[in-house]
Amino acid sequence: MKYVSTRNNLKEYSFKDVFIKGLADDGGLYVPKSLKKYGTQELSKLKNLNYNELSTEIINQFSSEFITKNELSSLVSKSYSTFREKEVVKITEVGELKLLELFHGPTLAFKDVAMQFIGNLYEYYLSKNDKKINIVVATSGDTGAAAINAIKGKSNLNIFVLHPNNRISSVQRKLMTTIEEKNVFNIAINGNFDDCQNIVKSMFSDLEFSKSINMSGVNSINWARIVAQTVYYFYSFFKLDQEKISFSVPTGNFGDVFAGYLSKKMGLPIDKLLVATNENDILHRAISRGDYISKEVKETSSPSMDIQLASNFERLIYYINNSNSEKTSEIMRKVKQNSYQIEKKNLDIIQKDFLSESCNEQETLNIIKKNYEKNNMILDPHTAVGVGVAKKLSFNDCVVLSTAHPCKFPDATKNAINKHEELPKELAHVLHKEENFQILRNDIEEVKKFVKSKI
Ligand SMILES: *Cc1c(COP(=O)(O)O)cnc(C)c1O
Repeated sequence: MKYVSTRNNLKEYSFKDVFIKGLADDGGLYVPKSLKKYGTQELSKLKNLNYNELSTEIINQFSSEFITKNELSSLVSKSYSTFREKEVVKITEVGELKLLELFHGPTLAFKDVAMQFIGNLYEYYLSKNDKKINIVVATSGDTGAAAINAIKGKSNLNIFVLHPNNRISSVQRKLMTTIEEKNVFNIAINGNFDDCQNIVKSMFSDLEFSKSINMSGVNSINWARIVAQTVYYFYSFFKLDQEKISFSVPTGNFGDVFAGYLSKKMGLPIDKLLVATNENDILHRAISRGDYISKEVKETSSPSMDIQLASNFERLIYYINNSNSEKTSEIMRKVKQNSYQIEKKNLDIIQKDFLSESCNEQETLNIIKKNYEKNNMILDPHTAVGVGVAKKLSFNDCVVLSTAHPCKFPDATKNAINKHEELPKELAHVLHKEENFQILRNDIEEVKKFVKSKI
């Protein structure tokens, strides 16, 4: 499979470029030049596969020039052997709710699903190439822990993670800062998540710097992550055995829900994708009325969604403009000036696949409380937003992606029900371990200097 950039679809790239670089040099995001679409018969052949087999089949469509199917199959098995659930993900039905639990990996959020795979993909690449790679990534809380867990201790790899100082939950932070391996570096930036992401983006676009350190990215724009995330959409469809299926997806950077859209493009009969946001509702405003204008980031109890600029949205812009990269570039210039209003024609196209809503803080806490009273089960605040949005849009029988384990957000659940869930026992030790991180100013030069000093 060949890939192009959303901002220039004349130049072709391989899966290797796409995976190792993450972002194209022209600032665009990688997308496949064409997509395989599964027909009904082909879908029925996938139906009875277990999770690892299904992952192998789907990912292989995208990566076969990089890794053979056999090697991919063992890489997938190795990646998911770290999960507490044998089938990786789990669908639970509580009352009328269907929750797709994606948080049974080592750091208790859905990001492990793609990241455990990515970590092993780097190892595979480096086993065949004599190189050292430095991964730099910004996190709103969960990406960092998942990436660190996937990369720690691997040879010829370092990982630098930027998180917004004091703006993630203490459990989120401790899962990152208590890791002892020497190739892990945590940086707390005095700023918000968008500041962290901007620093990483500027470091990438400084080609002299990024090439000099062999810089690589694992944030949610990495195509390999998106592909690994499509698997659970297929898996849920097969497990639930419905004719059509809709999903409510707690959304920040538009990565997870884009994986749903990609699944639909690949032939999965998804009816609607519900984009669920917290008070940082730019995507809700965009999808419901075309208003893609960012505002100040607000801190909420679902910090992994405290994002105003949803990087992956560029891929959707590309597709709804019929893969026109000139048009996409033009729109992205408007986005940069914060003046993009989605055209009526395009909004109609978006609304065929997507609906959106947002839940404010009080609504989120109420959902946690009501669900606890009714089902005796604690929802994490991100999942609660997904549940709330499904209710608001009257999609009561859709599948809600349950993106984090409730124990990761004890303050939010305490606020809602005066209770919190304990960490699984194999992780409880992080609460008492010594933490290790460097606090830096919101300043790209300072971060570059720090990175250089460590490699
Ligand atoms: C990252 C994250 C999200 C948002 O996912 P995106 O791919 O950024 O839209 C939602 N919930 C949790 C728990 C997360 O960690």
